Amino acid sequence: MATLEIRDLHVSVDTEQGPKEILKGVDLTVRSGETHAIMGPNGSGKSTLAYSIAGHPKYHVTSGTVTLDGEDVLAMEPDERARAGLFLAMQYPVEVPGVTVSNFLRTAKTAIDGEAPKLRTWVKDVKSAMENLRMDSAFAERNVNEGFSGGEKKRHEILQMELLKPKIAILDETDSGLDVDALRIVSEGVNRAKEGTDLGVLLITHYTRILRYIKPDFVHVFVDGKVAEEGGPELAERLENEGYDRFLSAAAQN
Ligand code: ADP
Ligand code: MG
Ligand code: MG
Repeated sequence: MATLEIRDLHVSVDTEQGPKEILKGVDLTVRSGETHAIMGPNGSGKSTLAYSIAGHPKYHVTSGTVTLDGEDVLAMEPDERARAGLFLAMQYPVEVPGVTVSNFLRTAKTAIDGEAPKLRTWVKDVKSAMENLRMDSAFAERNVNEGFSGGEKKRHEILQMELLKPKIAILDETDSGLDVDALRIVSEGVNRAKEGTDLGVLLITHYTRILRYIKPDFVHVFVDGKVAEEGGPELAERLENEGYDRFLSAAAQN
């Protein structure tokens, strides 16, 4: 069992006008086996939350805590976070010039497990995960994110998640820019990773459509840098029908 606990998290970024507070006291707990959706309008700070948990140097935690099983995540280097069992798929993944997908995956797996995977099972695991995601085997020899289409980037993220077997995965806008077929394939990948494991998932999304394929246990509505409302799957249905207007006008009044 793993528990990711975010308590009263405040995060600022540096702007030309000085520091600007983006996260204004976020509280959230994700446990093994649970799927949480964070939904909210553009600019509400969803990606800032993901980057802050990932340890992106641009995002300054001014107060609050993030812990994984009581361990201070914010004190860990990004690679330590991965070894501790956190997986973060970023909305804008970076290119890794000269490193093939195949090498990247094996290096990451070795770093996380502390030993190289057994070659024969590893090759089989990679092959079957790629087949499940309808990825051509030639993809493994391409350089990471170099010239990847939007859909290829997302599939590559899910491929990493399936193979690295994290405790808690944070997926930021895994649905953005995907056509219906790709969305279904990627969603099935997430569901497969959850099946028979106790993976906890924090799914960050602007749109409700991915939640038709990946069923959240909990839905948190994010507005103006904090959680404005929480509920079960029915909250996602309400948002699908009503949009974010209700929350935005409430935020404007504060
Ligand atoms: P979301 O993912 O919900 O669309 P973001 O977390 O990307 O929102 O952005 C939240 C707010 O923080 C936006 O107003 C955005 O312009 C601002 N912001 C995010 N990152 C930076 C940055 N590095 N520099 C300046 N402003 C930023
Ligand atoms: Mg935002
Ligand atoms: Mg975002």
